[in-house]
Order: sequence, then C-alpha cells, then structure tokens
Amino acid sequence: MPPVCDVLVIGSGFGGVLSALILQRHGRRVVVVDRARHPRFLIGESSTPMADLVWHDLCQAHQLDRLAPLAEYGSWQSTYPQLPCGLKRGFSYFAHSPHSPTSGGQPPARFPQLLVSASQHDADADTHWYRPEFDLFLVQEARAAGVEICEEAHGHLAQAGSRWHWSGQVAGITHEWLADFVLDASGEANVLGQVLDLGSLPLQTHSRSVFGHFHGVRPWGELLDEWGHSQAPHPFPCDDAALHHVIDGGWMYVLRFNNGITSAGFLLDTRQHPDRGDSPDEEWQRLLAQYPAIGRQFAQASTTPLCGGLRKTRRLQRRRDRVVGSNWALLPFTAYGLDALHSTGNAHTLRGVERLCQLLLDTAPGPDRQQALDVYQRLLQQEIDLLDQIVSGCYASFRQFDLFASFSMIYFAAAVFSEDQRRRGKSGIFDSHLLAGNDAYRRVVNAGLDALQRQLARSRPADTAELEAFRAEIAGLIAPFNLAGFCDPARQHMYPYI
Ligand SMILES: Cc1cc2nc3c(=O)[nH]c(=O)nc-3n(C[C@H](O)[C@H](O)[C@H](O)COP(=O)(O)OP(=O)(O)OC[C@H]3O[C@@H](n4cnc5c(N)ncnc54)[C@H](O)[C@@H]3O)c2cc1C
Repeated sequence: MPPVCDVLVIGSGFGGVLSALILQRHGRRVVVVDRARHPRFLIGESSTPMADLVWHDLCQAHQLDRLAPLAEYGSWQSTYPQLPCGLKRGFSYFAHSPHSPTSGGQPPARFPQLLVSASQHDADADTHWYRPEFDLFLVQEARAAGVEICEEAHGHLAQAGSRWHWSGQVAGITHEWLADFVLDASGEANVLGQVLDLGSLPLQTHSRSVFGHFHGVRPWGELLDEWGHSQAPHPFPCDDAALHHVIDGGWMYVLRFNNGITSAGFLLDTRQHPDRGDSPDEEWQRLLAQYPAIGRQFAQASTTPLCGGLRKTRRLQRRRDRVVGSNWALLPFTAYGLDALHSTGNAHTLRGVERLCQLLLDTAPGPDRQQALDVYQRLLQQEIDLLDQIVSGCYASFRQFDLFASFSMIYFAAAVFSEDQRRRGKSGIFDSHLLAGNDAYRRVVNAGLDALQRQLARSRPADTAELEAFRAEIAGLIAPFNLAGFCDPARQHMYPYI
C-alpha cells in the first residue's frame, strides 16, 4: 500500500507551505507537491496590516518563532537582512490622463493623488514579499521542520474510497501517496477543480494584466522632484508603498524590493482595453507611450532573468461555486482570483490558512468537520462577493479620480476597522473578513455603489459641487466604521496613520 498522509497539500506557494508547516507542528503527516522548483517567478507580493496581524497570530498560535519576524519590516530587516523585501508604508495612487505632455521640456501638470498610510514608522510597516526568495525561505523552513515537500511533481490525483490517491513522478522518480484530506493551494491551476469538475460563479470585475519583474525602474518620487512637484503633503515617501498609477479603465502597481528589483504590472478593464492580440511587449510599449509620465519611470527598465520577459494574462477573474467537500478544501486564491487592487489577496489567503488549519486540527472527519467546512464555504463566498463589489466599483470610478478617491474609502474604512477589532481581540478567526458578514457594512457598500451609479449615469463628468456631494455622501455612509478620518475634505486625500 502507498504511504498514507493526513493532508496532501497541492502547491508550495506561501499559502500551501504555511498550512503544511502548521499542521505538521501539531503532529499531522503532511506532504506538499508542486509542479515547479524553487526559486521560481511568482507575483502577489504586497502585505497589509491585516496580513501582518494574521501572520503574527499564526506564528504565535503555532510556535512558528522563526517566521514571526516577517510580520513587520523592522523585525524582518533586523533578523533576515539577506531575504529581499520591500518597505510598504501605505498605498499611493496617482492619476494620469492619456497623452498628458511630458515631452518638449514641459513637465506634466500635477497629478491628482491619494495617499493612505498603513503604518506610523518604517519599523512597524508592511512589506512586499519577493516571492521567489520568500517562498523558497518558507520551503526551507518547512523542510527543516520535517515537512515533505516535493518539487517538480507531476502526477494524477483521484478519489480512492474516502481517501485521495496521488501518483506520479517527482523529479523523474515514481511516487504515490494516499491522503485523508487534500488542501488545494495551487492557485490559478486549481487542481481539484479539474478533478472534481467544480462549477463556476460569476464576478463583476473584468480585468486582465500585463506584468513583470524589472531592473532599472526609477523611483516615482525622483521624477516628481524633477518635475518640481512638491511631495511635502505626502504622509510617507510615495515609493515606500504599493504605488498605483490610475489610468483610464485600469491601473498599474509598482512595488519596489530592496534587491534592486521592482514588480510592476498594468491591470486593465477588459471591456475598455480588450486584448488585441498584441505581444506583451507591444502592449506594454503602447501603454507607456499613451501615459508618458509612466513611460519615463520605465524608460530604462528591463525584465529580470528569472521573470524572463513580460507576461500577459487573460481575464483574471475566476471563482468556484464549491470550495469544500468532506475531505477537501480550496485556499482562497485557489477558490477565486479577483484583482490586485488594494492588495487584498495575501491577507485573504492567510485568513484561509488560519481557518482551514484550525478546523483540521480541531475536528475529526464527520459532522463537526463538515459543519466547520460549511462555515468556511459560506464566509469565503460572502467575502468574495464583497471584494468584487468594491473592486468593480473602484474600476467604474477610475474615470474620475475624485470619485475613486471617495469611493475607495469604503474599502479603507472597513480595512482599518477590522484591523482595529483584530488588534483588540474582538474578532475571532471564524468572523468574517473585512466586515463582509456585517449587515450594516454591506448596506454601506450597496448604498455607496448606488451613489456611484448616480454619478456615472450623467453623460458628462461630475462637476465640483457634485464631487463634493458624493464625498459627503460617502463620508456619511462610512461614519460608523470610519476610525481614520477618511473623506475629510481638509485632508486633501492625504491620510496619515492614526
Ligand atoms: C496580478 C496579481 C497581482 C497580485 N498582487 C497581490 C498583492 O500585491 N498583494 C496581495 O495581497 N495579493 C496579490 N495577489 C494575490 C496573491 O497572488 C495571492 O493571494 C497569493 O499568491 C496566494 O498564494 P498561494 O500560495 O495560495 O498561491 P500561489 O502563490 O498562486 O501558489 C500556487 C503554487 O501552486 C503551484 N502549482 C500550480 N499548479 C500546480 C499543479 N498542477 N500541481 C502542483 N502545484 C501546482 C505553483 O507552482 C505555486 O507554487 C495578486 C494576484 C495577481 C493575479
């Protein structure tokens, strides 16, 4: 008979490996299979205060002392200075108009901007994870702790009675296992989705991406200086952040690591920017030509050898209707893919790790476990609905930056509120993420979307009075959750840490 493990984890991204490490800590036999070999190119890098809080709690709850320093920039730098990392003090958004002049010696007009702090100092700041090295580090830690991790694993998964049977080749050698439970952490590949022929649910967001890892990207703040644009109002250096360039029908992320590499990509609304069949390079150059200020930032940039050139995706949105069964579960990023806006993915993945590990440790197969899995299914679907509403609303609002700056405060208010609740120990791990299960907050989101639709229904852009009325309406809606003074007109879209 093949060896039997308690849990087979498919995928050795941080979600899969962290789950394996936690389960192994509690005496479960865990095997991880991944078709790739580390270090490999992967994106999905930016943490948030909620991601840091969950990371910290997981490390504390499961005695992952060696991983605990990664919860904050300061402790990461003092403990693992050799592990590449980016400093993220918050979120910076700069709005661009197509073909705004930067040539002929003319500096561009000042960019409408929004900066939201997520930390007070560098020491307690969030981080960008350089995933090739970050995931490799976790794999090494998990292996040192005794987790069996099989890279270059190409196999076949099938149900075998109440168990699962995996058979295939690991680095060219035949292997097989029986597993009582399968945790699918394979992300977009969603291995179990194919085995079980899972159905899909719709999402409102429509975006695709062109992205890469680069050398030679200039700091945006340096260009602002060159153009004589004051950065005095910024609550933190705008590059020490998840930097966003907001364009017509999309946006771009720029995440700087301290190893000279920058992760960057355009996320484009597929309805406004349908794929014309260009190569990734052609599309990238076309976008940079259309937005010359961004073009200046990337004028000397070239992709890293590990990235191996620009990459392009189809529509990113995918969502499974079922995310659990009696002996299987999907981690969040395997259950759905939405969009990278506001960096919501990693915190959600970590909450998924937290919930699924806890329920596997607390319950044996049977009705109690099924009940816990059903709660996971309900919460995750509710959270996906909420995130989709917010992200698709943000896309709709991009066309007028002031609308976006007000509408996105619906998201930030919930983020800060739920972080605060977690810090005070007022939210348990089976509470909903980002207030998705809070009826009052869901009414706020619905009302905010209605208000936005009224603004967008006009055939002309909103005027100053209409923008101000929209801001005031959003401020009124988020008031019960607004701990950080969002939508205060005196702040001029600059929000220091409170
Ligand atoms: C464009 C984009 C940008 C993003 N940016 C951010 C961000 O800035 N911040 C944020 O919070 N989130 C971001 N996300 C989301 C983030 O990527 C995910 O939350 C995160 O990667 C989830 O980690 P994971 O370990 O669950 O899955 P992944 O990181 O996707 O890991 C999946 C693993 O499964 C392996 N695998 C794939 N197929 C198979 C197979 N057939 N068999 C075995 N193994 C397999 C892969 O090799 C990989 O190691 C972004 C997502 C996208 C699409």
